[in-house]
Amino acid sequence: MSLPEVSSSGRKVGFVSLGCPKALVDSERILTQLKVEGYDIVQTYDDADVVVVNTCGFIDSAVTESLDAIGEAMAENGKVIVTGCLGKRPEQIRAAHPGVLAITGPQDYQSVMSAVYKALPPQHNPFTDLVLKRADDNDIGIKLTPKHYAYLKISEGCNHRCSFCIIPSMRGDLVSRPIDDVLREAEKLAMGGVKELLVISQDTSAYGVDVKYAERSWRGKQYQTRMKALCEGLSELGLWTRLHYVYPYPHVDDIIPLMADGKLLPYLDIPFQHASPRVLKLMKRPGAVDKTLERIQRWRDIAPDITIRSTFIVGFPGETEAEFEELLDFLDEAQLDRVGAFAYSPVDGAAANALPDPVPEEVKQERLARFMERQAEISEAKLADKVGSVQRCLVDAVDGDLAIARSMADAPEIDGLVQIQNGLEAGLRPGQFVDVQIMGSDDHDLYGEAMIDD
Ligand code: SF4
Repeated sequence: MSLPEVSSSGRKVGFVSLGCPKALVDSERILTQLKVEGYDIVQTYDDADVVVVNTCGFIDSAVTESLDAIGEAMAENGKVIVTGCLGKRPEQIRAAHPGVLAITGPQDYQSVMSAVYKALPPQHNPFTDLVLKRADDNDIGIKLTPKHYAYLKISEGCNHRCSFCIIPSMRGDLVSRPIDDVLREAEKLAMGGVKELLVISQDTSAYGVDVKYAERSWRGKQYQTRMKALCEGLSELGLWTRLHYVYPYPHVDDIIPLMADGKLLPYLDIPFQHASPRVLKLMKRPGAVDKTLERIQRWRDIAPDITIRSTFIVGFPGETEAEFEELLDFLDEAQLDRVGAFAYSPVDGAAANALPDPVPEEVKQERLARFMERQAEISEAKLADKVGSVQRCLVDAVDGDLAIARSMADAPEIDGLVQIQNGLEAGLRPGQFVDVQIMGSDDHDLYGEAMIDD
């Protein structure tokens, strides 16, 4: 378990957080509510009176990891409450671990709290019981990220029905948070020392569709609940704002000028998933690949420094060798900066499982290796182009003489790093912005020196 230690009441909860950034935000919210209600958050199984495991259930390997984590908590502690995406499949959890105390699904914060109350009844305190206790009213709550960056979740659920994905069946249709609520949270994070906001959701570009782009007021100005207005509002805070999980809709074009104007990081995390129109149709994703290439070119004309990160699935059921070659050709043409790829793996309950002509495992793995090899050359060349340039970076850590930082092109955890050779000498600290003269590169990271004024 790795957690911020919070002390005081004698009722001790351990917490294991697995899964994606969206699950991490759920964990932060539950931990904050526990803290507000006076529970101690502890670091070890031995110290805990009960352990909450926030699970992921997206792909088979995540299910295995989650079941293993529950098993470990059962063996080490024995009192375990399970929440998160795998909680949508209680039979599977109970079959493996019949002794768990309670199982709740994702975003079901109240049920997690009820299970904790049952295991560790709240203590009556005549001085605080009349105070309204709500995590939302608290400052910025518990964050599982370093102090200088934070995930900002703008919505839950998704209106798409990509055939390989079961998130809509686990998390439901899109529910957007009111824009003033999101902007207020961002404001509190900024006041708490956050320098970089990572906007997350299942589909960031659909923000506000469900509430018909309702207008709300923040700092005396009206904002529509919509991606562009959100970016404009966030730009008022003077932070780095990075957009993740942007679905390739045409209206993504609207935010590129904000990147060119420096209001938004010139960075788009936009999962294209494939490039063959037929495979995209089978995936139930937008399939006009020529238009996608044209749009990428247009984005680069408007914001030449834009970094485009994407993810792809290879070996989707029915994918032919020719269709896979189309995907490689797309990589050559699109020249994306950062790319993640997965060999298709069936997810329990996904519509794609019923598709004919599954690709044999060895073919999937062979295609994945070819795909990664092709992209590695592109990423390496793109990073080499940066040698000699000066990059604005945000320091994440100082390690001996080195400072480990990220440029505008690097999201935490998933992208590369900038190693600053004279970090100690320059007196750099985590959370500090610094200009770095780039002196070297490899296929993933950059190397350079902090520019110190004489
Ligand atoms: S857009 Fe993302 S979350 Fe929504 S169905 Fe498709 S893959 Fe799943």
